[in-house]
Amino acid sequence: MYCRNCGDQLAENKPEVCAKCGTKRGMGTGFCPNCGIPVTKGNVYCGSCGAVLNTAAVNKQKSRMAAGFMGIFFGCFGIHNFYLGYKGKAIVQLLATVLGILLSCKGFMTFWVPMAMGIWGIAEGILLLGGRTRVDGEGNLLRE
Ligand SMILES: [Zn+2]
Ligand SMILES: [Zn+2]
Repeated sequence: MYCRNCGDQLAENKPEVCAKCGTKRGMGTGFCPNCGIPVTKGNVYCGSCGAVLNTAAVNKQKSRMAAGFMGIFFGCFGIHNFYLGYKGKAIVQLLATVLGILLSCKGFMTFWVPMAMGIWGIAEGILLLGGRTRVDGEGNLLRE
């Protein structure tokens, strides 16, 4: 265990508070608690040992696999994009599909629109499952 504020190794017998800088264990953002190297503020994982630096951010991460399957099965409704927070794309897909179905019920030749949205969703699902899409709508990395 290392101090996250100054990077000093925490004492075996008294690891709750750093003897050097007085910072509580786990507080601070400058160093990895596992290997003690300096880390960039805001990083979720340590670049050196892979330890989790920001548990809250990890819990917030969305599942790439789940989003991929949503895209493949319900992509025409934009479900995967709602889930990932790509709101604009999601609304376009949902509205185009609903309008396409409604208009084709009224006799318009719009049956291809929901199909096109479905293909779009499947393509995005494949990109997600294949790991080509790695971030959500807010730029957060997706969970593997
Ligand atoms: Zn310290
Ligand atoms: Zn580390």
